[in-house]
Amino acid sequence: MILILGGTTEARALAERLEEDGREFVSSLAGRVARPRLPRGRVRIGGFGGPEGLARYLTDEKVTCLIDATHPFAAGISANAADAAERTETPLLRLARPGWSAAPGAEDWTWVDTHAEAASAASRFDRPLLTIGRQSIGEFTGPLAGHPVVTRVVDTPEGELPAGWAVVHDRGPYDLAGERELLSANEIDVLVTKDSGGAYTWPKIAAADELGVAVVIVRRPGPEPGVEAVTDVPAALQWVDKQGVDKQGVDHQGAFG
Ligand code: NAP
Repeated sequence: MILILGGTTEARALAERLEEDGREFVSSLAGRVARPRLPRGRVRIGGFGGPEGLARYLTDEKVTCLIDATHPFAAGISANAADAAERTETPLLRLARPGWSAAPGAEDWTWVDTHAEAASAASRFDRPLLTIGRQSIGEFTGPLAGHPVVTRVVDTPEGELPAGWAVVHDRGPYDLAGERELLSANEIDVLVTKDSGGAYTWPKIAAADELGVAVVIVRRPGPEPGVEAVTDVPAALQWVDKQGVDKQGVDHQGAFG
């Protein structure tokens, strides 16, 4: 069985293709979002209990290959995947869409390494739009307490937000016209984002560039050393093919001839 660590558009696209190919697989979600977009096929939800728990799962469920298709900023689970794969000698692939560093206009953005640096950079502007997700908001509430921040999230952030902050609940899809409207209607002068990459959330940056809104962007955490990586679903499917396992009805132990 193939285990996909998911929670991303790419993970859902991969699940769809594996199902079409008749592969045996399960997608795993962290369970962070109240109503997650579910991938096709079998799904399990919730943490494994660190690298040890994941290693146990790989062994107990006879996982033949592991695909880490989690978000580029989900560094904890990627480290756990590398550790558990090594312990159990399970082949591991990292599937992560490319970042935006080569995108048009990227050289004009303010690139930072941490959310704290992003908060400090954004504090030099008047009206920030935060699109960094609910989990990192705590890094911004102090430095931007006096700013009329608009923060866009899927689920309501835990804890109190400063008075004067506005929360926009949205999970996309986002289009250029909608993003232009959000920036203009709120008179946003700086957009704060992670380098998530891909096309799905790109319109906010395109709109910002178009309207002359500054962009503060958090660089990705580094990849796990020594882990084979691809940037799209077709390349991941090729890797699965190379592993030569798990086509339903085909027993790789040879029991069905
Ligand atoms: P994280 O910090 O890397 O992971 C924290 C813990 O959550 C992990 O140690 C693991 O718990 C559990 N976990 C994470 N992903 C899991 C998965 N796919 N299946 C089962 N358990 C998982 O992750 P995060 O940044 O909180 O992100 C959580 C999930 O949301 C990820 O799967 C990611 O793809 C998705 N996501 C994240 C972002 C983001 O910006 N970080 C954006 C969009 C989607 P145990 O140690 O108990 O196994």
